Amino acid sequence: MYIILLGAPGAGKGTQAVTLAQNLKLVHIATGDLFRQALEQGTVLGEKARSYMEKGMLVPDEVTIQMVLERISAPDCQSGIMLDGFPRNLEQARALDDALDKQGEAIDTVVYIKVPEEELLKRLSGRWICRNCQTPYHAVDSPPRVAGKCDRCGGELYQRTDDNVETVKKRLDVYFTETAPLINHYSRVGKLLEIDGKGSVDTVSQRILDALPDGKFVTR
Ligand code: ADP
Ligand code: ZN
Repeated sequence: MYIILLGAPGAGKGTQAVTLAQNLKLVHIATGDLFRQALEQGTVLGEKARSYMEKGMLVPDEVTIQMVLERISAPDCQSGIMLDGFPRNLEQARALDDALDKQGEAIDTVVYIKVPEEELLKRLSGRWICRNCQTPYHAVDSPPRVAGKCDRCGGELYQRTDDNVETVKKRLDVYFTETAPLINHYSRVGKLLEIDGKGSVDTVSQRILDALPDGKFVTR
């Protein structure tokens, strides 16, 4: 089972990916998380990604694609993956298709979480994320039960350095010019599942589960 989560920064991909991957028993692969990990560990990959991430730009395809293809070829990915933050342009989508094709696999469904643009800015500017399990919270809309602590695992919450107004605007810009064309791309091949991303986290999760094709997805 190969699922892609598509949507703008702030659409709720990360939040939904964590719960959905658990429900559907898929390995959750978030390219943003992989880059942030590499940065924290000071690896060569992290160094390559740093300046792009700080500016809200896409990390070059050759770096990103290689990282993802390596990750998805690992044994734990055999039973299925949920991609979050990849592909982010047509070049990446093609590389992914080719790689899966060589393994006799293909993308099953692209879940596109649709949220109005004005809502995105608001969400991103109050965002707090768990350092341990990456669950996102919002200072106003979905605060943690205990300030600064993750409800799920007790981990420490932090604000991403690229969640400042300037960088958020750039990320949204990049999304609309480079990533949004993927909506048409996957719609043309009949794989797009458009989900209304407004409302509570649980409402959106339920919408996604209800919309996924019956039988193909075994939930716990
Ligand atoms: P968001 O979706 O909230 O903008 P992510 O955590 O998915 O945040 O990504 C953070 C940053 O990591 C991006 O702004 C970009 O610099 C880099 N990045 C993540 N995924 C990709 C990708 N598929 N291709 C290129 N760069 C990426
Ligand atoms: Zn946590």
